[in-house]
Amino acid sequence: MSLDTLVTNVAAKLMAATSATSAQVSQDVLADLVASFGVDFSFLRYNDHSIRATVLVAEWPPRPDVPDPDPLGVVYFDGADPIFAAAENAKEPVFFSPEPAPDDAEDYQRRVQEASGVTLPSLASVPLLSGEITTGCLGFIKIGIKDWTPEETNALKAIASLFAQVQARVVAEDQLRYLAEHDDLTGLYNRRALLAHIDERLRPEEAGPVSVLFLDLDRLKAINDYLGHHAGDWFIQAFAERLREETGDGDVIARLGGDEFVIVPAGSVDADAAEALAHRLQDALRDRVTIGGETLTRTVSAGVALGVPGRDTTSDLLRRADQAVLNAKNAGGNKIAVFTDEMSLRSEFRNDIELHLQNVIDTGSLILHYLPEVDMRTGEILATEALVRWQHPTRGLLLPDSFIHVAESINLAGELGRWVMRTACEEFSRWQASGIAEDAVIRINVSPVQLVADGFVQSVAETIAEFGLDGKSVCLEITESVVVQDIETTRITLAGLKEVGVRIAIDDFGTGYSVLTHLKSLPVDTLKIDKGFVLELGTNPEDLAIVRAIIALAEAFNLELVAEGVESPTAAMTLLQHGCHRAQGFLLSRPIPSDAMAELFAKRVIPVDFSVPIRT
Ligand code: C2E
Ligand code: CA
Ligand code: CA
Repeated sequence: MSLDTLVTNVAAKLMAATSATSAQVSQDVLADLVASFGVDFSFLRYNDHSIRATVLVAEWPPRPDVPDPDPLGVVYFDGADPIFAAAENAKEPVFFSPEPAPDDAEDYQRRVQEASGVTLPSLASVPLLSGEITTGCLGFIKIGIKDWTPEETNALKAIASLFAQVQARVVAEDQLRYLAEHDDLTGLYNRRALLAHIDERLRPEEAGPVSVLFLDLDRLKAINDYLGHHAGDWFIQAFAERLREETGDGDVIARLGGDEFVIVPAGSVDADAAEALAHRLQDALRDRVTIGGETLTRTVSAGVALGVPGRDTTSDLLRRADQAVLNAKNAGGNKIAVFTDEMSLRSEFRNDIELHLQNVIDTGSLILHYLPEVDMRTGEILATEALVRWQHPTRGLLLPDSFIHVAESINLAGELGRWVMRTACEEFSRWQASGIAEDAVIRINVSPVQLVADGFVQSVAETIAEFGLDGKSVCLEITESVVVQDIETTRITLAGLKEVGVRIAIDDFGTGYSVLTHLKSLPVDTLKIDKGFVLELGTNPEDLAIVRAIIALAEAFNLELVAEGVESPTAAMTLLQHGCHRAQGFLLSRPIPSDAMAELFAKRVIPVDFSVPIRT
């Protein structure tokens, strides 16, 4: 083979190399070169200038019985053999010959061999260059004499430059992959890399179970809010560093963004071992950290889930771990939860709800039940609250608590809310048109998502206009927590609703007390005492103290007051005794279908008789 053909062949092979195949392709090419140049051994090494060393990439033929670590693997330039030392900054090929003088080289070689039984090698080292930088070397060894002709030397330079190009490409490719697979802030793997890793680990032929630890930093939000994002970033970086220190070599650590981290321990790990690992990590990661003069205790919640290769998918596994960590957080943080069958049933239920909820509004399977509100002194029906229900295809009639939050999480709350609003207004206007419920109020629950959505006020105005309702007969119920969460938006929305003329009630009042500070400045008409304080009223003195405080507050602010959750005559009497006479609750009526509500309105009253002995 001519030298030109050799160079062309090498170029063709190296051109096709990628980061993943470059070591193998390089070895193949070295084999060709060994054969073509008639040498005994060839190697390719890259320079790592950051540690001042040369690193073996490929060699031919492979050495038998290479020790581990390979003494030729990473060789530091300082104190290295001249052939290696020359590779650090050489710009031209370097040749080492065993002969003292070219004239009698063969004679010298023969004499050394006779004296020692060893044949001295000839060496050639050709630098790989990238601009001014020596990025590696291509080396050849021949036991005995090897003279390189000028043509061969030129071919070597051409081949070395081809290797240098591959090297540059591999470096760029690796860098790109690093960026694509790692999280900027911490250098840990990112979500994409984690998913790819778990995909691999869950292939049917892999060993299982594969455990996943989902970690969630407990205080990050507060740190971001109160100490700023720099402090938050620093907190995350410090945590990532500790995670690295505390985990093993083969363990994969990823940051999913925010305060969420996932560890996939190497090898198969069962539930007990995974939980033990979570406990060990939790102990090791708990730390007192000082940020901006504040000392905080860093705690972490952990969720553990196991996946079986060939059975579970990556998203199954991560969802379970996520669910588990949610449980750990809900239990107060700094806890560990292992995914259980019960959680699995719950998440199955949620998935099912999510699936069917998508078209629930089109299929007409939502209905409204109504809960009358009564003046307990007379039994007169003053108002009724619309409560949504879902006639589920297989699970029967579902109460809102099992699907409202799912609807919110998949952005259906707005649509569902509009349906409730229209339906309640339509039915109520029909009752009024038939001469019943004329002085009554229809109460409609509004989800937090609706309240802050654009165009909410407008759509309320249009709906009550469409059904010809008087704004005073429509009351929107909002929960206390939402009012406080985004007080500015709420203020604007409530002002708009006031202009439309509807009434506003604070639902579940007392659960937070946080709305108190704003009560005077918000256009609120009604407070509804949370049923939690009412259910045991008459037997629980603490509840009574709270209810009395709320009653006093309503009087002070001149607000209408409604007690929810009146289940017992004792509670009813206690409320009456303290001046709260509007109420709803199972004692008076259960939530009922709209026909039944119409019948009640036609009768105007629900008979009330709380003739129980009142303890004082
Ligand atoms: P809420 O607004 O506090 O509604 C009152 C809930 O208390 C109703 O539950 C009602 O059935 C229940 N209740 C009434 N009296 C008693 C009683 O004496 N004892 C007990 N233990 N419970 C009583 P429901 O219908 O399951 O509704 C639960 C929650 O779902 C509602 O609480 C409300 O926040 C929400 N919700 C209901 N309908 C809608 C709706 O159309 N839209 C929105 N966004 N939320 C709704
Ligand atoms: Ca309500
Ligand atoms: Ca309530």
